[in-house]
Amino acid sequence: MRPMSETVALVSLGCAKNLVDSEVMAGLLTRAGYRMIPSPEDADVIIVNTCAFIDEAQEEAVDTILELAGEKRSGRCRALIVTGCLAQRFASDLLAEMPEIDAVVGTGDFPGIADVVRRVLAGKRTKLVGAPCYLYDEKSPRILSTPSYVAYIKIAEGCSNRCSYCVIPDLRGPFRSRRVESVVAEAERLARGGAKELILVAQDTTRYGEDIYGRPSLARLLQEVCRVDGPRWLRTLYMYPTRVTDELIAVMASEPRICKYVDLPLQHADDDILRAMNRRGTSDDARDVIARFRAAIPDVTIRSTFIVGFPGETEEKFRTLVEFLKEVRLDRVGVFAYSPESGTPAARMRRGRVSAREKERRRREAMEVQRDISREKNEARVGRVYDVLIEGRSEETELVTVGRSQAEAPEIDGLIYIGNEHPPPGEFRRVRIADAGDYDLVGEALPSGEGGDA
Ligand code: SF4
Repeated sequence: MRPMSETVALVSLGCAKNLVDSEVMAGLLTRAGYRMIPSPEDADVIIVNTCAFIDEAQEEAVDTILELAGEKRSGRCRALIVTGCLAQRFASDLLAEMPEIDAVVGTGDFPGIADVVRRVLAGKRTKLVGAPCYLYDEKSPRILSTPSYVAYIKIAEGCSNRCSYCVIPDLRGPFRSRRVESVVAEAERLARGGAKELILVAQDTTRYGEDIYGRPSLARLLQEVCRVDGPRWLRTLYMYPTRVTDELIAVMASEPRICKYVDLPLQHADDDILRAMNRRGTSDDARDVIARFRAAIPDVTIRSTFIVGFPGETEEKFRTLVEFLKEVRLDRVGVFAYSPESGTPAARMRRGRVSAREKERRRREAMEVQRDISREKNEARVGRVYDVLIEGRSEETELVTVGRSQAEAPEIDGLIYIGNEHPPPGEFRRVRIADAGDYDLVGEALPSGEGGDA
């Protein structure tokens, strides 16, 4: 152990999967004797754990690095380290073009982060970027950055799906699962720390277990994690539509602790575009899986994402997507404008490219269509009573407390605003929905014992 002198601040960008890596890095650094602090301006070492999924994420990462580089010129900071997907993808460019950066560390190399910090503090510029093959486990030290009542568990790393627009398989390596026992042991540890909601993540959670058990095993994993005492909600994100098995749906329907919430990225609804995206399945397969979920879990909330402006997406194919949204009426939808990522097959598609302006127009139109659906669905919830996990006072005003029901995943979906009471964060309360907005709801906390529903 080192004396607790040098301080490290870690800025985590991107998705929940990246956040788990940041939390493991914080655990490793603490174990090595460094003191983690929240404010970069007071830190000896700043680490930026980056995302590079699409152009926008890369721009955000570069802007953040540039901003924090200022701390090296004028503040206390002695070293700036870039980790994560951007580092994996552009290690040499970053070191060549940004002299303020002292080290780049790839997605599979962050177990060596304490050594890297030691080296850069000794004035040695470092590049540690190998093949991305690391996978953390229950023994990895981890310091949560989420509130104690909610925690993510990464059940697998990497991806082998090779959607034609996506760089993730190159940045994160092939899909590899953790063992059931490892995930359960981590869930037990998180439960002991007070977690009330556990969220299982991976690039493709429905592929879980195929590599190590020879068959999709998410259903079994969910059953095992449900046995862990403590957490009341168990949520799974990023399911691949054609890998959803009847067994998985049955487990989700029957286990009371599993959130009746499905995150099912569909990406498009035109079969030619789906093929060009190298997605498995057709729009009818998507209809089928949505119908199976709805038949087995009548109250299910289904979330999806779509990409508009993929090469070859004519106006007619875009209309197919819009009609699909109107037909299946999903509860939550995110729409992204296609961004060509160098090194991907889609970036090499020359024909049928869609202008940036047109992509944005289509994105906005699809979101407007969904906004109306979302509002109608929210209005249908008025008068119903839900178990709500309280998150604390609203960021906008101290007069209002916010929370989420099973139907709202943290950070991605809307919130339920409560004005009549202010229970402490991490508590569950029965809340009757009183009013509905496009994405958020307003509710009234009920005295304990009142209310039915979900
Ligand atoms: S499923 Fe497709 S889009 Fe998702 S990470 Fe894997 S390759 Fe990328």
